[in-house]
Amino acid sequence: MDIKSMYIEELNEWMKQKGQPSFRAKQIFEWMHKKYVPDVENMTNIPKELRTFIADDDFVCIKEQMRQTSKTDGTIKFLYRLHDDQMIETVFMRHEYGNSICISSQAGCRMGCKFCASTIGGLIRNLTASEMLEQVYASMRATGERISNIVVMGTGEPLDNYENLVRFIRLISDENGYNISQRNITVSSCGIAPMIKKLADEEFTITFALSLHAPTDEERKKLMPIAAKYNLDEVMDACRYYFDKTGRRLTFEYSLVKGQNDSVVQAEMLAKLLKGINCHVNLIPVNPISERNYCKSDKNSVEKFKLALEKKSINVTIRRSVGSNIDAACGQLRRQYIKNNQEEADEIMRKN
Ligand code: SF4
Repeated sequence: MDIKSMYIEELNEWMKQKGQPSFRAKQIFEWMHKKYVPDVENMTNIPKELRTFIADDDFVCIKEQMRQTSKTDGTIKFLYRLHDDQMIETVFMRHEYGNSICISSQAGCRMGCKFCASTIGGLIRNLTASEMLEQVYASMRATGERISNIVVMGTGEPLDNYENLVRFIRLISDENGYNISQRNITVSSCGIAPMIKKLADEEFTITFALSLHAPTDEERKKLMPIAAKYNLDEVMDACRYYFDKTGRRLTFEYSLVKGQNDSVVQAEMLAKLLKGINCHVNLIPVNPISERNYCKSDKNSVEKFKLALEKKSINVTIRRSVGSNIDAACGQLRRQYIKNNQEEADEIMRKN
């Protein structure tokens, strides 16, 4: 029954059906979401008979398969194994203001962005809310440190797994559980326009980040197949709707690919596109991946691009390069593991 994905009211109902008093639901909810225990056996104030009654399938827990730690900044990239042996990546980052985590929302991705390793094998499946929660909880168990910021920007398109994403946001910000402020959660999308509007209607106080990556439809289509389905007019209209509904400043992610989207002319076009929108632009010098023929923009081009935006009064920062000596780009560690363990990967595909 995947009890970690249940809202407290649903857990209450489930307990009732099992003839248990309702306070047990709150106790179990707290063990899962406040103390993030790795096992039902750790729930010491729950009677043993009830603990044994909760089957392994009911209690989702992900397992660390491997990790890479950056020697320069302490960033940790975790590769987690799910119950069906799928692998997902999670990145734990330390900043002056606290720890943040970048979680995956799907195993694989079907969006096909050209600069991304996560999409190479396509979409395997959506992650459940509990599997998203567990990336946060397991990383805190592993490091012994709390997490103050969550970005849903790892493998997968979060708005392509909408119901589980919404459940995850509600659960992780539940005052009876981990109770993180929604203001400290960022959800990033490649631009599924109608779903951006749907997310706005939830009236969360999360930050929305659009992966923009090019200032025109023509250029965007070369990098992101989704641009052929929703053009920039539709996507920008959805972003404005998001701001009007939530009052939250928008973030635009812009990965700089050498010779493709990093010229000063393109920066000026970008400034024109964003004129009048309350936003922040995050420039990301793209991490090259071996399967794709893309190079990182050089430092000089990145600085010139930034300056061109600033001249037009656009709020802009260059994303700090974290974990540069580990396979930090989205999906690279998972790809590497699959490559090195091809027999196991084939077996998993057969099973699923
Ligand atoms: S960048 Fe994000 S949406 Fe695009 S293919 Fe990669 S994981 Fe999917």
